[in-house]
Amino acid sequence: MAQPMPDEMLKNTKLINELADVAKDTALLQGVLMRIQETPNLSELVVYAPFTLFPTAVPKAIYHQALAVQTHYNILVDKISQDVDFLQETLASTIAVDDFTARLFRIHQQILKEGRAPSIALGINRSDYMLDQRDNGSLSLKQIEINTIAASFGGLASRTPYVHRHVLKVAGRLEDSKRILDNNPAAGLSRALAKAWELYGSNSAIIIFLVEKSQVNIFDHRYVENDLWKRNIPTKRMQFEDIYKMGCLDQDRRLFVNDQEVAVVYFRNGYMPQNYSSEQSWDARLMMERSLAVKCPDIGTHLAGTKKVQQVLARPGVLERFFPDQPQVVEQIRATFTGLYALDMGPEGDKTVEMALAAPERFVLKPQREGGGNNIYGSEISEVLQRLKDSPERMAYILMDKIQPIPVKNILLRRGATPKVTNCLSELGVFGVYVRQSGHMVMNECVGHLLRTKNSEHADGGVSAGVAVLDNPFLV
Ligand code: ADP
Ligand code: MG
Repeated sequence: MAQPMPDEMLKNTKLINELADVAKDTALLQGVLMRIQETPNLSELVVYAPFTLFPTAVPKAIYHQALAVQTHYNILVDKISQDVDFLQETLASTIAVDDFTARLFRIHQQILKEGRAPSIALGINRSDYMLDQRDNGSLSLKQIEINTIAASFGGLASRTPYVHRHVLKVAGRLEDSKRILDNNPAAGLSRALAKAWELYGSNSAIIIFLVEKSQVNIFDHRYVENDLWKRNIPTKRMQFEDIYKMGCLDQDRRLFVNDQEVAVVYFRNGYMPQNYSSEQSWDARLMMERSLAVKCPDIGTHLAGTKKVQQVLARPGVLERFFPDQPQVVEQIRATFTGLYALDMGPEGDKTVEMALAAPERFVLKPQREGGGNNIYGSEISEVLQRLKDSPERMAYILMDKIQPIPVKNILLRRGATPKVTNCLSELGVFGVYVRQSGHMVMNECVGHLLRTKNSEHADGGVSAGVAVLDNPFLV
């Protein structure tokens, strides 16, 4: 595939260093920023968010395929979130052994028992893909996962196209620079948040950004926050602890924090066990779930994004349950699935174990975790499965075919590292937003993309985990 920078240019160290300096300054000027790891809560110290020196080629047809399927994924996630029986059946084996998922599930059950289905749903998700190389050399779009909670980098991804355009121009590639796509997921995210706020219907109510203590990625949030303020919608950043201490429900179940009514809670935290540092965090989550405030995501939607759900969706006939009269939609979604296999106790799970042990390098073993760095690869798969194969603990995992993208040379720019040519793999994410009010979809859109690229030596890990960096697709 033709890359925007030919190999001989990548060998020109002087040019690369010059371009890297231009690129970093441009990123700083454009607000592609993070706070620094050592002082995540000091607002004075910032660094550019890591990114590639050059954009990465992505075939046009595949890019458009990913965009086109997104509104169907939105509907699918929303349907799953409301399908109590499906969630219960699907997650039964997982919650038997995975405490975190079990805890989330208990909240879900409690909300159901109280008969308080939310009337407004707001979904912000990001479906991630890699391009799998087939035997005949062609590429196909295969989903890694869908993130239904705290899907990040919609803000920063809105600022990176300018940086790559500028770098290409300085490198003498004006025509190529015109091929970098515009991208503004932040605008789409805030539009959806604003819609939910408006439907909630109280001008004085605020939108809470539920955030973690470490504010390294604060600028990514700020793009969305500031866009909401532009619309005169007040936002506040809060932690679980703040909600626990200052939050309460009135008799109509309206959520108040510090005497201020809350219309929407947007979770940018709460997706991994460590985010709940005490029982109080769980109490706060439950309080928010029980409230009338719109949750992004609500607990059902959070559970719809689990890896176990992803695996069950790949079973024959399951997508048809959600789209009984739309075979084309089923086909479009299914085309993005790679092989996914259950590890439940019984003959099906036994077969999965056997298959994985016979060729571990072909698979990825995944626990029900988010945030990068949790998956198991290669010989470690054999170790783990040998140990767990006769124990119900194996049900905490799913097995997935390893997607094999073609490595491409690029340069990863990050603070403190000398620019050097590296073999890289990329992952394309697509942002979807939707708003549903009492059974009626009032918004369902694909609002942008995110390309992330990492050294091919790293099997796992996102931008926040310090592995991947921001990138842009260069359509070919
Ligand atoms: P998380 O929820 O931690 O982000 P992911 O499912 O996205 O978990 O996996 C993390 C990373 O591992 C991905 O960004 C990708 O680089 C790699 N990965 C995950 N699944 C696969 C797969 N099936 N094939 C190849 N790489 C994978
Ligand atoms: Mg991921």
